[in-house]
Amino acid sequence: MAAALGAGIITILFPVVLVLFIIIIAILTLLAINNLHRIPNMQKSIENIEKYLKFMTKYERERLIKEGYITLGADLENALPINQQVNSGDTWVCKKCGERNQAASSYCKDCGAYK
Ligand SMILES: [Zn+2]
Repeated sequence: MAAALGAGIITILFPVVLVLFIIIIAILTLLAINNLHRIPNMQKSIENIEKYLKFMTKYERERLIKEGYITLGADLENALPINQQVNSGDTWVCKKCGERNQAASSYCKDCGAYK
């Protein structure tokens, strides 16, 4: 009896769920079509972000050259590890082995060299 009732509920619910599913898909499709006109604006935004990133890369590179972390010929990709070696904040980087150490410790935990 319970099984038959369960099967009955499923038989009734299935078309309802199917109709709801179709309605949701239709709404999502309409929203997508409605937003198509925004695509050129989005492309413009992405172009602006790219322009900004290029500018920031150039600016950062010039800053690193100015502060002596990289030479004029170096590309920024190779310069980043050097940049990370700058001793700042709560840690410092060992000049001998490159290990990062706590600011409080005066010698390297890896090789024992002094800060
Ligand atoms: Zn070390």
